[in-house]
Amino acid sequence: MFSSLKYFTSLALVASSLIFCQSFAVAATSGELSEKKQTNANWFNKFKQQASDKQLYDFLYNMPKGADLHHHASGSNFPRWWYELATNTQLNGGYRYYTKTKLTLCQGYGQNTFGYGSPTLTFVNISEYTYEKLSACEQKNYKEISKLTNAEKKAWEQSIWLDKDYEGRDEFFQTHWQRLNELSDNPYIAAELLVRNMQAFANEGVIYLESQFNVAGFITPKGKPQSQEKALTILKQRLAQDDAKQTGVEVKLIYQLLRFTPNAEQQLTDIYKFVDQNRDMYVGINMVGREDNGKGHPLRFLATLRELRQQYPAIALTIHAGEVDEPNFHIRDTLLLGADRIGHGVNLLGDPQTLLLMRHNHYLIEINLVSNLLLEYVDEFKQHPFPEYLRTGIPVALSTDDRGMFHSNLTDEFFIAVKTFNLSWQEVLTLSNNSLKYSFLDPQTKQAMLDKYQQNMKTFEQNFKQSGASSLQKPAVLNQFIRRQYPQLTH
Ligand SMILES: [Zn+2]
Repeated sequence: MFSSLKYFTSLALVASSLIFCQSFAVAATSGELSEKKQTNANWFNKFKQQASDKQLYDFLYNMPKGADLHHHASGSNFPRWWYELATNTQLNGGYRYYTKTKLTLCQGYGQNTFGYGSPTLTFVNISEYTYEKLSACEQKNYKEISKLTNAEKKAWEQSIWLDKDYEGRDEFFQTHWQRLNELSDNPYIAAELLVRNMQAFANEGVIYLESQFNVAGFITPKGKPQSQEKALTILKQRLAQDDAKQTGVEVKLIYQLLRFTPNAEQQLTDIYKFVDQNRDMYVGINMVGREDNGKGHPLRFLATLRELRQQYPAIALTIHAGEVDEPNFHIRDTLLLGADRIGHGVNLLGDPQTLLLMRHNHYLIEINLVSNLLLEYVDEFKQHPFPEYLRTGIPVALSTDDRGMFHSNLTDEFFIAVKTFNLSWQEVLTLSNNSLKYSFLDPQTKQAMLDKYQQNMKTFEQNFKQSGASSLQKPAVLNQFIRRQYPQLTH
């Protein structure tokens, strides 16, 4: 069986796509490839063994993938997209932006260095309206983003992406959103960026996004607050345009609660009401923010949620839990809150009773491998508990979290999973099936999505078995994370 594959090792890589084509064509005509799972597993195992990393990556990039259930809309955008929209008044609703390029201490020493608006943080972005209100001394610290030199532009882009080995959790949580600042308060930029994400995810074979996207806190070009209703209308209008629809990607939203803020209970109450009123777009609520800040511990919200459940029909909850270094009971407590899905779940192995509860149950864990490495919750991929979950019957799916700030994509997650944990073809299929099965879509739309994914996958698999690498239609996009982690991919 597959005897022609033995020639792989002796042939130059340049010829390998032709050989894939020949070997799979031979196998297919001799009837060795049936629809049986066992045979399926076999062809994928052979492929994994023989393919170069680049060939595996190309395959996984083109492979249909289902959904991404865990990504934050503001953290999902590549720096070049932010730059383009910050400087293009046609696309951004007519807003102009400035960024902090100098650090003259206009207010003298003794300012609040660790507060949200630290005076010593560079590349904090503000709108023209805020700029005009600054003192003459402060204005000199800022420069219009469209006027940055090439070197400044490069540094500006790098300031919102973890591009260096020494950058990690603190850089991410304490500078990235603080820098984006008023750029993330523009409803037109937010809507445009969601469409960019739909296009990029569509290229990777994704058909559904459940985006963590808030419509609170937006401002007009004149610095006035913009209502949530107006912001949601701007988003819906953008999603109704042809280029968005042509992606074929369905989008629903999850409302995020920053869990450690002083008035988080009141915010949760307001969010619940808004989501209930906008169930056409919003399918759930999440609780976000660094979990090592104890002020946002899960049980803080138990009484509020129980009260809300007395008033409103069910709203699905997916909540970040177990994204910490220490063993604790946050995942158990989060299930007690009523969560249907768990974001990250990295420390579950330290809580055996909850681990048992999760086995063969219906609580999916949203796995974010790249995020967990870059934010230092694991030192290397081999330490990640993902294979233990996958192989003991805990539902899991792969997702990208804040991929713009990691410069990664969903293919990276699959590539790392296959490379590090030797996934079988059945396991690859399970991950994508789970991403749709455990979505918060209504049952009918969910079934339609599952059918669409399975049809896409059937066609992809047949074409690949018949024509090998030449059936892969899109050139894979290699982002900076995967280039740095696997330099051989670029050769
Ligand atoms: Zn997250």
